[in-house]
Amino acid sequence: MKTDVQVAVIGGGIVGASVLYWLSRLGWTDTLLLERRELTSGSTWHAAGNTTYFGPYPKMTALFAGSIRTYLQAQEASGQSVSFHQTGSLRLAATERELELFHAYAPRYEALGIPFHIRSPQEVAELHPFIDTSGIHGAAHTPTDGHVDPTGATTALAKAARQNGAAVERQCPVTAIRQDGGQWLLDTAIGQVTAQNVVVATSFWAREMLAPLGLNLPIYPTQHHEIITETLPEVAALDAELPAMRDSWVSCNVRQERDGLLIGIYEKSPEFWALDGIPPDFKEELLPPNIDPLMPHLERLMTRMPLFADAGIKVANNGPFCMTPDGLPLIGPVPQMQGLWLATGFNVGIGTGGGSAEILANWMVSGQPPKGMAAIHADRFGNDMTKDAALDAIRGVYARGYELPDAI
Ligand SMILES: Cc1cc2nc3c(=O)[nH]c(=O)nc-3n(C[C@H](O)[C@H](O)[C@H](O)COP(=O)(O)OP(=O)(O)OC[C@H]3O[C@@H](n4cnc5c(N)ncnc54)[C@H](O)[C@@H]3O)c2cc1C
Repeated sequence: MKTDVQVAVIGGGIVGASVLYWLSRLGWTDTLLLERRELTSGSTWHAAGNTTYFGPYPKMTALFAGSIRTYLQAQEASGQSVSFHQTGSLRLAATERELELFHAYAPRYEALGIPFHIRSPQEVAELHPFIDTSGIHGAAHTPTDGHVDPTGATTALAKAARQNGAAVERQCPVTAIRQDGGQWLLDTAIGQVTAQNVVVATSFWAREMLAPLGLNLPIYPTQHHEIITETLPEVAALDAELPAMRDSWVSCNVRQERDGLLIGIYEKSPEFWALDGIPPDFKEELLPPNIDPLMPHLERLMTRMPLFADAGIKVANNGPFCMTPDGLPLIGPVPQMQGLWLATGFNVGIGTGGGSAEILANWMVSGQPPKGMAAIHADRFGNDMTKDAALDAIRGVYARGYELPDAI
């Protein structure tokens, strides 16, 4: 085992694996990823894997596009499939205003080189036969996005990084981090590791992990549901996979999962989880589902997609994921702590993990911060946000779900 490295990455979810991969691509291979249990043990294993290109912020869209590109590159390098389904996505315009915003976004997609089309309700019906288009004004169509298999992608990234010379230690929790002169000392299950740089990619575990260093990260585990239906004969009869659908009126996303539907919901009153500390024995577990708060959304979905009204629910998965007060991840160096980097706070870590890792790895290797990415800098909240203020902000950002900012 390597015990003295240039970079130790802590956390083997999609984000940690992406960072390890990107560092290795840029020539930093004196690296070691330390994972408490198995790769994907945190939120990654139960994610739906959706990676959409739609969004109001071009820089974030670039992160999504960079992520799919990263996973496909890792697939090619490693031979491990990431199961990319290029279904495309439809973001419905539930209001006239949303349609106006979509038109305003179009030139940005052209600048990014990402196909983006405004579709009429009739065209939406042709692309997605199960959407009742009577209540919509059209849709934004991003035909080249879709979904990946998060476990396949994490495995491909780790495998490709190892091929480049990086090391991965599983079943190896880091129990303490401290700075010693110009280096970092990590207590791990298999002894002390010395590193010039440490990347903390431990999602909602990062808050407790870094508290002993005096850091107060405003990140908290939040419960999130996805519902998978039984097989629907109408879906089974399709010749091609449906595009994903996102809708601010329902506050949900829906994509095809085998011959049924997979629905992710952003309800109005999200519940947190483990606010007094992550249970030390938390494994690859789901939380008990709480369907009642989802019902108003599911009822709207029956209107928007009448087929859903006939669907049996196969499973309701409730998993924790990591939220920050503005819904964006924390990426970059920690001020006053030379060599300590964050890659945490991801609630759409499959969609943005690969692209974020590219940015972080370039930042570490070049020493230059990325241009125009202040929105995701690790230090943007300062160190004194109260727990109540952070939880309030998270509740708001989660409840707004698919609402778009009014500013163009
Ligand atoms: C129901 C549901 C559906 C979702 N669907 C999507 C989706 O469609 N698209 C999308 O983009 N996102 C989705 N997400 C969110 C996504 O799962 C997360 O954003 C993403 O997995 C976060 O990745 P991560 O690597 O930051 O964290 P994690 O996957 O949680 O990885 C963190 C890792 O750190 C390890 N770790 C913690 N402490 C230590 C320690 N002391 N030492 C060593 N290792 C440690 C953990 O074991 C874990 O493996 C979904 C989430 C849920 C709950």
